[in-house]
Amino acid sequence: MPGDFDPAMIEVTAGHFIGGEAIGGGETLPVARPSDLVDYAEIPIADAAMVDRAVGSAHAAVAASGWASRPPRERARVLRHWAELIEASAEALGRIEAVGSTRPISQAVTGDVAATADGIRFFAEWADKLGGEVAATRSDNLGLIVSEPYGVVGAIAPWNVPLSTASWKLGPALAAGNAIVLKPSELTPFSAVRLAQLAIEAGMPAGIFNIVQGTGVTGDALARHPGIGKISFTGSTRTGVAIMKAAAESGIKPVTLELGGKSPQLVFADADLEKAATCIAGSILANSGQGCVAGSRVIVQRPVAEALIDLLKVKLPRITPGHTWKAATDFGPIVSEAQARRIDRIVTASREQGGEVLLGGGLLAGYGGAYYQPTIIANVTGDNAAVREEVFGPVLTVQTFADEEEGFALADHPEYGLAAGVYTRDLGRGLRAVRRLQAGTVWVNRYSRTLDFILPTGGYKSSGIGKDLGRQAVEQNLRHKTVLIDIAS
Ligand code: NAD
Repeated sequence: MPGDFDPAMIEVTAGHFIGGEAIGGGETLPVARPSDLVDYAEIPIADAAMVDRAVGSAHAAVAASGWASRPPRERARVLRHWAELIEASAEALGRIEAVGSTRPISQAVTGDVAATADGIRFFAEWADKLGGEVAATRSDNLGLIVSEPYGVVGAIAPWNVPLSTASWKLGPALAAGNAIVLKPSELTPFSAVRLAQLAIEAGMPAGIFNIVQGTGVTGDALARHPGIGKISFTGSTRTGVAIMKAAAESGIKPVTLELGGKSPQLVFADADLEKAATCIAGSILANSGQGCVAGSRVIVQRPVAEALIDLLKVKLPRITPGHTWKAATDFGPIVSEAQARRIDRIVTASREQGGEVLLGGGLLAGYGGAYYQPTIIANVTGDNAAVREEVFGPVLTVQTFADEEEGFALADHPEYGLAAGVYTRDLGRGLRAVRRLQAGTVWVNRYSRTLDFILPTGGYKSSGIGKDLGRQAVEQNLRHKTVLIDIAS
């Protein structure tokens, strides 16, 4: 297990990564360590010209290296080697991630880095397994449906789980034969650069994986660039709307959007309450609530509501908050002061609307950064701010219901449909819930993703379009060309 370390010892490569080289210049932005809010490095902000340079480098690399046209097993071999190098650098990469994000070192090394390597390996295996189709056409013709990469795709990532989210974009795009230009979040920009350096060491041609650093201005330039064939985004619904618009206005680019969530956890009276409480606590404490699939709305059948709340009141405070570079920490900071203040504003508004705070409800002082207490709010209805808005912090709301119909109705959020959990010992009810709940993922008697990368993830409603992970993610990085050949003569 990784031990404590001194964050001041961590060196990062600042700059964009274009054509296999780190490139600086231009306007810069300081980057803070979320754990103590100390600025520790800066990034350049890519303007439209720098984005153009990255996209140009990617196109040149596709043409010169034959990345798309070389035997697919060769791409797979490079990707597998890359995964090995990521694993071999687990400690160093984990430290960069821990210092620069909200991920405690105990989870960054054995969780995030390991999952990144495994994810790349999973996608490598698709490189030589997805072909086209022979179509059922008239007998004097041969009809083919040919899969082709887009050429150069764009990816824009959020700050909450930087490494593994980046790998969900990189793996399928590269396995499918595309080059990629990635824009990490300006809050967590550095671990991706190390990934890109390792890709070069693994034999990936320079320019196939490029990084542009910057803010939303950079992301907008990437989404609008005419040389980008497809754009994949993970982040807030608000930004997803802007990206969809930019993609539509600049050549009708396809988009994959993994957006916000406000996921319900529906607990029936016949459920294994201890297990339900463990899953709920685990889901809302993970990454201090900063997870898109955080199951933040508990919806519990009345006869067991009190018992469930009692269990949650015991389980939620079982945390070891601290700096992400301390080995014992399992509950890290909120990514920034602004984000912590936003969480607190929603909790305050919830109280003012009648929400009853049963646990927590404020900032967690004493660490130098922005930390938030695990919080439970009861006595809320669907229009309460904490029920309606994605909090992106360790805040649970509790609503109660009488019967199945009322439970399903409460679970349905007007805007979001990313994930849902249901806890019951009645198989029929569990399956009715699966049919009824408007969510891209439904977990029954468990909650949260596993490392089974074959399971795609993505949202219904305003939680997104398309899927990350699974075969679907690779397919979304391919487009289809119809070919019809006259074979009569
Ligand atoms: P965000 O939308 O603020 O930013 C995400 C990225 O978009 C950043 O890199 C940012 O610089 C960039 N960006 C901002 N404005 C842009 C614009 N106009 N054009 C192009 N790019 C722009 O999101 P965030 O605060 O970094 O992340 C938190 C959000 O991400 C939450 O809503 C969370 O639910 C969501 N998320 C969803 C998933 C999922 O799989 N559905 C996973 C993780 C996070």
